[in-house]
Amino acid sequence: MSILASNSDSVRAASEAQSAQDDPPQAWKQQSWQQQMKSAIRDLATLGERLRIEVDIEATSGATAQFPVFVPLALLDRMEPENPSDPLLLQVLPVAGEDQSPEHFSVDPLEESAATLKPGLLQKYQGRVLMIATGACAVHCRYCFRRHFPYQESPTSMAQWQPAIDEIAADDSIEEVILSGGDPLTIVDAKLSDLVDALGEISHLKRLRIHTRLPIMIPARVTDGLIELLAQSRLQLIMVIHANHAKELDGSVADALERLATAGVMLLNQSVLLRGINDNSQALIKLSQRLLELRVLPYYLHQLDQVVGTSHFEVSPERGIELIKQMRAALPGYAVPRFVKELPGEPNKTVWA
Ligand SMILES: *Cc1c(COP(=O)(O)O)cnc(C)c1O
Ligand code: SF4
Repeated sequence: MSILASNSDSVRAASEAQSAQDDPPQAWKQQSWQQQMKSAIRDLATLGERLRIEVDIEATSGATAQFPVFVPLALLDRMEPENPSDPLLLQVLPVAGEDQSPEHFSVDPLEESAATLKPGLLQKYQGRVLMIATGACAVHCRYCFRRHFPYQESPTSMAQWQPAIDEIAADDSIEEVILSGGDPLTIVDAKLSDLVDALGEISHLKRLRIHTRLPIMIPARVTDGLIELLAQSRLQLIMVIHANHAKELDGSVADALERLATAGVMLLNQSVLLRGINDNSQALIKLSQRLLELRVLPYYLHQLDQVVGTSHFEVSPERGIELIKQMRAALPGYAVPRFVKELPGEPNKTVWA
């Protein structure tokens, strides 16, 4: 049986009673990024109520117990109410049957456990290592390939990062550290500053890359403190943001990205090809055009990793290759991302188009 939040009078009454005590709907705009992490929506019923859409709480309870709903209000603000197919909503909406993926969908499709050098440090490719700096994110994306990652085992403090830092310091073939997660920008400025400083002291490191969705999910994360701590590093800085649809990139995101670009951070974007969200050439072309306006180069379009719980997002590789062809015919070459798939054991990501 499903619980239809928007149709049930009792649920509606309860939510009205609740929201009367709540802050006004736009109050988050005055909140710091940390307050916005706290005020994020964490359950499906509230998400359904706020957007006035039907949600199936019972049929998704297994999926949400394993990977809870997490939607910051700054993202909710960009979703269209009463539209169950909104491309931002679909990225975060648990669906019935998520836990019944086909058999070839696994919990560790990239064989990451084999690439772990130290807790929280992965190396698959020459010259660069990936540091899982934290397990926390500012949004829970239902297609996430890390949804089964053993984050409890990941380090989250300077003392816990030290073995990974020592490992990087001991190997002068490493030129670039990628801070990933989770989302490394969920780490507060003071702690992040210590980590960036410690990496800056490793003389053979040239570049620091940060993989993050935070400037998009909660643009207020791009604080003066963050800009300062990045600008003072001797390392070359690259930030790879993660937008899947042009609707994510509103004025507040544009301001945050402008501040990063002005501070000298090279901005790239990665997307995942997602059924019903961006699997048409119009959506992908618009995304690239909007990214260019914001001084962000489209870097990768990823074929979905086959992780349990994500099969409803899958688009065929043939379709992906066709979409890239259509993009190439419509955009300057630098605005077309590389369509890639990560195959275990390969020396680089495999480029399909
Ligand atoms: C994707 C990935 C990288 C980065 O690869 P690039 O092609 O340089 O963007 C590095 N390490 C790991 C483990 C990765 O999964
Ligand atoms: S922000 Fe990145 S790591 Fe976090 S859930 Fe989304 S895709 Fe996964």
